[in-house]
Amino acid sequence: MRTPGLDGYVEPWRKPEHDDLAELARTFFTKEVLPHAARLEQQGHPDREHYRRAGELGLLGLSVPEEYGGGGGDFTHEATLLHEQTLAGEGSLGIAVHSGIVTGYLNDYGSEEQKRRWLPGLVSGELVGAIGMTEPDGGSDVQAIRTRAVRDGDDYVVTGSKTFITNGILADLLVLAVKTDTSARAHGISLLVCELTGDPAGFRRGRRIEKIGLHANDTAELFFDDFRVPAANLLGTEGSGFIQMMQQLPQERLVIGVGAVAAMQRAVELAVAYAKERVAFGKPLLGHQNTRMVLAEVATRTRVSRAFLDDCIQRHTRGELDVATAAMAKLYLTEGQCEVVDRCLQIFGGYGYTTEYPIAKMYADARVQKIYGGTNEIMKELISRVL
Ligand SMILES: Cc1cc2nc3c(=O)[nH]c(=O)nc-3n(C[C@H](O)[C@H](O)[C@H](O)COP(=O)(O)OP(=O)(O)OC[C@H]3O[C@@H](n4cnc5c(N)ncnc54)[C@H](O)[C@@H]3O)c2cc1C
Repeated sequence: MRTPGLDGYVEPWRKPEHDDLAELARTFFTKEVLPHAARLEQQGHPDREHYRRAGELGLLGLSVPEEYGGGGGDFTHEATLLHEQTLAGEGSLGIAVHSGIVTGYLNDYGSEEQKRRWLPGLVSGELVGAIGMTEPDGGSDVQAIRTRAVRDGDDYVVTGSKTFITNGILADLLVLAVKTDTSARAHGISLLVCELTGDPAGFRRGRRIEKIGLHANDTAELFFDDFRVPAANLLGTEGSGFIQMMQQLPQERLVIGVGAVAAMQRAVELAVAYAKERVAFGKPLLGHQNTRMVLAEVATRTRVSRAFLDDCIQRHTRGELDVATAAMAKLYLTEGQCEVVDRCLQIFGGYGYTTEYPIAKMYADARVQKIYGGTNEIMKELISRVL
């Protein structure tokens, strides 16, 4: 790896195919998407065309079985792609949700017919995927969701709303958490796959939520008012939604961890390069002991984080990543990202606070990592349960 402090480090799961994938991904993000970064930030959502192009290059659904058009790989391939995206500084495409989360739900709980209907479109980028759990009244207490789905003939009639939904402006396919039994908490939750292309009757996209970071990625409110979803779009059985989410959340947390470590690596690279060239008091910043100490500390934190992340990735590919360890990864790696990026920004002085320098954007983008995918306070609750 080229990151200072990680020279010569090779992920224990890495094979030559990951190098080829990384190169393809790097080229796509840097040559085809990044040149549009300023415009994408302005419009507040990615270009649909970039999803299609990613699909064309075989970069979507890397872990989806080949029979549904996917790459036939595993989580190491998804991790490689997401790592390159963050390392390149590309933040518009919601691939972490699209491929890292949504395809997992369909693959693991979809019937054969459902998989054949939806997975090829997600893999080609014709369909953009999203997941809707959080509601305006609360996100941490998932069991308390209020969006209702009432069975009516061959349909469910859905009423309610979701908020903070990543990819919400562009989403064609939404895995939606609903209450099919309002008298129950966890056991009343089911997952419905909603087809949203063309904004069907009873469905409305709300405003694009303005955020302090991740400006090029769309986050939206979604409203359902007697919105009809075919009963055939139920994932698995009624009442199994909470268990399905609990089973998928460790991967979601690992996806966040992959982004966190990639951001740490990028911050260290940028800070070391700047410290070598910026002169203060007649010598480069790196010539001042405090700068060297700070960089030594963040490089160490990054390397230790990398090793823990890779251990989690290996456990996950073996099907052995437990809830508490995934929560530890999300907690430790995102806290590390925020600390490392903040300390690296300090090395840039005033320039670190200007949007001309990528480190400033990384600082704003980092903050949400401690919030979504389950807040870090909830991670501590999950960890404490196994102590
Ligand atoms: C940019 C962005 C993208 C997102 N993408 C998605 C998405 O694609 N899909 C989706 O469904 N959601 C998404 N979310 C929502 C996110 O998962 C929630 O914001 C998060 O789970 C917290 O829920 P909340 O905002 O309702 O906070 P609350 O649940 O109201 O929590 C507020 C505070 O109280 C703390 N707290 C709550 N309960 C406890 C407790 N028991 N013990 C201690 N502290 C507690 C929390 O840690 C937090 O600090 C996204 C959010 C953002 C900002």
